[in-house]
Amino acid sequence: AGDAFAAAVELFASARRITVLTGAGVSTGSGIPDFRGPDGVWTTDPGAQRLVTLADYVADPEVRRAAWLSRAANPAWHARPNPAHHALVDLERTGRLRGLLTQNIDGLHQRAGSDPDSVVELHGSLFGTVCLDCGARGRMREALDRVAQGEADPPCRHCGGILKSTTVFFGEALAPEVLRRARTAALDCELLVAAGTSLTVQPAAGLLDLAARAGAAVLVCNAEPTPYDQAADAVLRGPVGELLPRLVAAAPSGSAGR
Ligand code: NAD
Ligand code: ZN
Repeated sequence: AGDAFAAAVELFASARRITVLTGAGVSTGSGIPDFRGPDGVWTTDPGAQRLVTLADYVADPEVRRAAWLSRAANPAWHARPNPAHHALVDLERTGRLRGLLTQNIDGLHQRAGSDPDSVVELHGSLFGTVCLDCGARGRMREALDRVAQGEADPPCRHCGGILKSTTVFFGEALAPEVLRRARTAALDCELLVAAGTSLTVQPAAGLLDLAARAGAAVLVCNAEPTPYDQAADAVLRGPVGELLPRLVAAAPSGSAGR
């Protein structure tokens, strides 16, 4: 394990442009469960997946009711960033962070202080709503206030259509502009770090292939094995709340051209 860490520090220290792809594992330390880890939402309740599957959501008002309740109960409303998020803010301050691509919808990178303009939210955000019929956007807080006042499934105020969160559901495509920004950051880095992600969701995981084909080194930091471990230049197995701060501290800004 010491060797793997030394190899990872070496990769980190020599890279001038680092792109980081984060997943739910970066926020478990903030009390937000992941989906596929041992205590993951889908590991403990496979039916929960229907709440974020577009066809089920559109077809079944009961699914929408349950989805509103689960949005209201999402721990992200009260969560605070943890050392994994803070380490990525420190990395940004060294001037070497090319992009911060996150699959998380919890806004914690921005809360920690990462530049909101450089965080790419691949799967959208919990904090907005969008109408499936007219496309009108609104604030999740306002929709949840309506739920609290008794509307089980608040319709769009403009057209009466079905509202959902501005998160990417199964059966939906990622926003083209978001995907374009993510691909550009993956293509334009010397090191791609995947942190706290099972790397099982496409097209997010494919960003590793893209970066590697463009000549970047790949570092995987995750508690459990991932499908990309074999191909990675280094793999660190463990809690990202410890690994990322250690890595950023071990490879300070001065070590590569600033
Ligand atoms: P995932 O649940 O598939 O994988 C998370 C991975 O993180 C697992 O392999 C787990 O072993 C690992 N992990 C958990 N805690 C860790 C820790 N402290 N240190 C290191 N590794 C840890 O999540 P994913 O890969 O991000 O993809 C699944 C989808 O989940 C995404 O689409 C995302 O939108 C959604 N999601 C987001 C949140 C959030 O916003 N915080 C929470 C749950 C799910
Ligand atoms: Zn509408």
